[in-house]
Amino acid sequence: MTDQALEQLKDLLHASSRTVIFTGAGVSTESGIPDFRSPGGTWSKYQPIEFSDFIASEEMRRQSWSRKFATDVELIAAQPNRGHRAIAKLIEFGKAACIITQNIDGLHQASGIPDEKIVELHGNTTYATCLDCAVRQELEPIKKRFLEDDIIPTCDECGGIVKAATISFGQPMPEAPMQAAKTETDLTRLFIAIGSSLVVFPAAGFPLLAARNGAKLVIINREPTGMDQYADVVINREIGPTLGEVVGVN
Ligand code: NAD
Ligand code: ZN
Repeated sequence: MTDQALEQLKDLLHASSRTVIFTGAGVSTESGIPDFRSPGGTWSKYQPIEFSDFIASEEMRRQSWSRKFATDVELIAAQPNRGHRAIAKLIEFGKAACIITQNIDGLHQASGIPDEKIVELHGNTTYATCLDCAVRQELEPIKKRFLEDDIIPTCDECGGIVKAATISFGQPMPEAPMQAAKTETDLTRLFIAIGSSLVVFPAAGFPLLAARNGAKLVIINREPTGMDQYADVVINREIGPTLGEVVGVN
């Protein structure tokens, strides 16, 4: 990575009036939340629970909730970092139109960005929903009943299965965010992918779509990705210091 790449990014941002920011787990590692694929990341500790197994088996649901409440401590303590703050500034200044995120940690919201500017492709782990009637359920009462009385949550309204509001492997992608992400990607001339290994599809299809549309594609990631060949600028550096410098945020 050279300073030239940083200058290129500054110039592209300066010239662009409608930028899309696309983020992955890498934007939150500086907040203490492990990503999935780095050494020590989530997948080196746990096998993912497939959606069909969660639906089919009470034992899997028990395992899933138990795992969630054991690992949530890091998440609850997490605060937005310099990278989140720089992205929030880009939104505030009207430089970036929206954030498409694969993250489920709610840290873009916590950095002050309004909900309508955030497209969550993989849902949000800071609350739960009923899989049948979609009503939102808060985690605190679920956690209390699970830890104290070993009760697996069901919906108070309809009796349906309650699940953290994230999209699991094998679960259909949420339609409205997928549509919003496509519309925003089609409208943009500058697409910046930040902290993603770009291997999880369909999410990783959006940077590809941007490049195919002829938009400028910038990739900021510690390590190379399989999509570097489609990018106009690749910056292999730490996200917080890089975005902090480019946007002028501490
Ligand atoms: P990933 O783990 O596959 O890739 C993260 C990438 O970020 C890696 O290539 C890594 O080298 C890079 N990275 C990590 N920290 C960095 C830093 N400080 N500076 C620069 N680069 C850094 O994550 P992904 O592509 O988002 O896909 C994984 C899936 O994981 C997503 O579906 C997402 O839902 C989920 N996930 C989310 C969170 C979260 O919400 N914080 C955490 C773990 C996993
Ligand atoms: Zn319900």
